[in-house]
Amino acid sequence: MVKTLNAEIVVAGTGPTGMIAALGLAHAGFFVALAGPRPRGDDRRTTALMRPALTYLDSLGILQRVAGEAAPLSVMRIVDATSRLIRSPIVTFRASEIGEESFGLNTPNTVLNEALETAIAEQKTIEWRQATVAHWEIGDKSAVATLDDRTRIEAPLAIAADGRDSRAREAAGIKTAGRSYRQSALVLNFAHTREHGSTSTEFHTETGPFTQVPLPGNRSSLVWVVRPETAAELALLDDAALSMRIEEKMQSMLGRVTVEPGRQIYPLSSLLPTCFAKNRVALVGEAAHVFPPIGAQGLNLGIRDVEDIVRTASDDRLDPGSVTALAAYDGRRRPDILARSTAVNLLNLSLLSDLLPAQMARSAGLGALKALSPVRAFFMREGMQPGSGFARIVSSLREQMWR
Ligand SMILES: Cc1cc2nc3c(=O)[nH]c(=O)nc-3n(C[C@H](O)[C@H](O)[C@H](O)COP(=O)(O)OP(=O)(O)OC[C@H]3O[C@@H](n4cnc5c(N)ncnc54)[C@H](O)[C@@H]3O)c2cc1C
Repeated sequence: MVKTLNAEIVVAGTGPTGMIAALGLAHAGFFVALAGPRPRGDDRRTTALMRPALTYLDSLGILQRVAGEAAPLSVMRIVDATSRLIRSPIVTFRASEIGEESFGLNTPNTVLNEALETAIAEQKTIEWRQATVAHWEIGDKSAVATLDDRTRIEAPLAIAADGRDSRAREAAGIKTAGRSYRQSALVLNFAHTREHGSTSTEFHTETGPFTQVPLPGNRSSLVWVVRPETAAELALLDDAALSMRIEEKMQSMLGRVTVEPGRQIYPLSSLLPTCFAKNRVALVGEAAHVFPPIGAQGLNLGIRDVEDIVRTASDDRLDPGSVTALAAYDGRRRPDILARSTAVNLLNLSLLSDLLPAQMARSAGLGALKALSPVRAFFMREGMQPGSGFARIVSSLREQMWR
């Protein structure tokens, strides 16, 4: 028998963005139906959550649930480890330069997902159906999701948090443009004999970044971006050989390295939709933007999507999925998403490119950051909160690269 559930808002997708969206909307007083399976318990990734995202998670009661298992990020360093003709200087960002103790917290994804699941279970105004949406019908006044357990959920607004291959986005008729990179990220955690001093180091290499991010104790997480075939080779090495490769790559900066069990590979791609809301559907998280993991931007941006959809829906409580509400959401998200996506994709391309102008642009940009403390401070604030700084870097990179 088909059961129909009427909700004020239906959220499709139970990755971090979908769960945060469901909680945010429930806290704003909406009755929410959440559709999607329980999150995977084996995600080895960690997420560097910056201060604005942490402030929002705190308002939802999530921060105190994850803080004990997360590590503060007080210093962030970019090291040019390419062997190209033009190399960039080492740039160090210190949270103390902008009067903060830390930029944010590096949190294991499993810890964050567990905290979100528990908070959702405690929230009376969220009805979670642990099934995927098999079919969407989009009407003038509502969106109807039919789940593979045959539940039907009807609501005036649907939030597409169903990831990069979003079916909800497709049902709303929103087109996308994207590309696959010849890059994959090898992800793992490792122990080391020296203290990390709450410092994250991003080594820029010809195949992409090699990023170490602190975890509690003498441990760190690693995102190592290489060609797909290299990622597969590295993942097959035994623990001792892989530990040695990582230690060499970091020039023994953290002493002896010992990799922990569990290695995962994530193929990299980028994707942007032509709009961020249409036909009763609003996009959040990777349904709205996919780009390579450089500078810890993805989920931080996804959390800002959530904050904006909660604000927009609250401004139009009688019909949160109306044409006016969706146009307002699209307008709010467009500058932030376009600036971040373009900046990250250009930075990634400038690493891969052998073209001299691309190297010069990257080197000049990082050189300015190293030399000028006001520019650095501006960039650090920008890195945490949206504004015009990213747009400025984008236009300078674009000019230099295509000149
Ligand atoms: C290696 C790596 C490192 C990263 N590090 C950082 C970082 O440090 N900081 C940062 O901010 N970001 C980081 N990111 C980006 C971040 O991981 C993503 O932005 C984030 O995971 C996106 O979450 P999401 O919920 O939007 O999508 P997903 O995690 O893809 O979740 C989508 C969910 O939708 C569900 N779903 C799919 N189809 C359906 C359906 N039909 N019905 C119902 N449910 C459905 C899926 O089961 C899944 O649970 C990193 C990414 C990578 C690859």
